[in-house]
Amino acid sequence: SLSDRLTGVLKDLRGKGRLSDADIDATCREIRLALLEADVALPVVREFIKKIKVRAKGAEVHGALNPAQQVVKIVNEELVGILGGETRRLQFAKTPPTVIMLAGLQGAGKTTLAGKLAKWLKAQGHTPMLVACDLQRPGAVTQLQVVGERAGVTVFAPHPGTSIGGGENELGVTAADPIAVAEQGIAEARNKQYDVVIVDTAGRLGIDQELMAQAAGIRDAVQPDEVLFVLDAMIGQDAVSTAEAFREGVGFTGVVLTKLDGDARGGAALSVRELTGQPIMFASTGEKLEDFDVFHPERMASRILGMGDVLTLIEQAEQVFDAQQAEATASKIGSGELTLEDFLEQMMAVRKMGPIANLLGMLPGAGQMKDALANVDEKQLDRIQAIIRGMTPEERANPKIINGSRRLRIANGSGVKVSDVNQLVDRFFEARKMMTAMAGQMGMPGARKNQR
Ligand code: GDP
Ligand code: MG
Repeated sequence: SLSDRLTGVLKDLRGKGRLSDADIDATCREIRLALLEADVALPVVREFIKKIKVRAKGAEVHGALNPAQQVVKIVNEELVGILGGETRRLQFAKTPPTVIMLAGLQGAGKTTLAGKLAKWLKAQGHTPMLVACDLQRPGAVTQLQVVGERAGVTVFAPHPGTSIGGGENELGVTAADPIAVAEQGIAEARNKQYDVVIVDTAGRLGIDQELMAQAAGIRDAVQPDEVLFVLDAMIGQDAVSTAEAFREGVGFTGVVLTKLDGDARGGAALSVRELTGQPIMFASTGEKLEDFDVFHPERMASRILGMGDVLTLIEQAEQVFDAQQAEATASKIGSGELTLEDFLEQMMAVRKMGPIANLLGMLPGAGQMKDALANVDEKQLDRIQAIIRGMTPEERANPKIINGSRRLRIANGSGVKVSDVNQLVDRFFEARKMMTAMAGQMGMPGARKNQR
């Protein structure tokens, strides 16, 4: 997969102390191949590689990151850029109902998405209604009704018993054509005060004039606030021509990538935003209604790079730590020489970054530690700080000397119980061990030196 290849390419850089222009060229060649193999469109690949090269060659030596990490950081930032930078939120109408129309090929995942989106909107306090405008495929209406029932939302549709193309349903809708159903669905939503209407439409197996004409007709009739182009992430190079055809034939305001749970090579995600200029807004990752989320460019980039959110961590750390101090601390962590003084400094820096649990959640494999620390509240951190401040510099530098009588003195001095001091000291030794192990896994500067 793209992720495996990129990870491999970048891993090869890890041992290097300095990167020559030749190293960067070779790396870029590999990245280029990986992207092309993942079906990223050629113009997108060209532009991407050009940016990486210029930035990697011009990069200044940075105290906190080794050259390989620096390339990873650049690749990551450019990936995020290509994926759209920031998540774009849904645009709601000033006067409800907000109309969201789904468009895309047959099998892309529109009907499934209708249910997912409805459930997601409902959880946020909206009152969505689904409108079944796919009258093409037998069973499409029933499928939407099943999905709507699972999501716990109303579905406006021709009655299942009536033959498509005629007859009336229980709401008095004549199922003459999808445009009529769409219009009546919106009117119904307005009357009953649903605040969002999601219009499911028909797709074809391939791009087709009749399909485009029908979708455009529905669009004109319902004047949607959003047209979401639903794209199967697994269709490879065809993603580009399909997106292009829908952009011309119907026009869309956002993209939803589906089937990202599959063996998706990531190419679609990387091409579609860049080529259509429209943001990817949601991602679908399975058949169940819960397998759905807002699309996060940074997360997708990390996923493609296969590195958890380590990069976000590096970035935040950079903002807060002075680079040199960070390097010194990293090498102390790597070699297990961290002192309580460093611990205190780190804690102060970490507190500036935000809730400690969030930060830990970004580390790969830190799930357990995160759980353990999820309950550590800010008051407790204050207490820890007070205890460390109650220690002499010698004690902070060499915590091993903190014996029973010293613990009693520290407890009295900082207004806590001896058991609190015991707990802190124990925890410190444990944390130091864990951080040293983790630094080794992450290839931090100090740890690297140690491993050799
Ligand atoms: P439509 O023709 O565009 O309405 O597509 P459907 O919603 O009927 O989906 C087509 C098939 O893809 C169904 O079997 C869905 O269960 C499946 N599907 C939809 N979204 C996803 C997804 O994100 N992941 C996986 N694995 N399957 C999906
Ligand atoms: Mg459908």
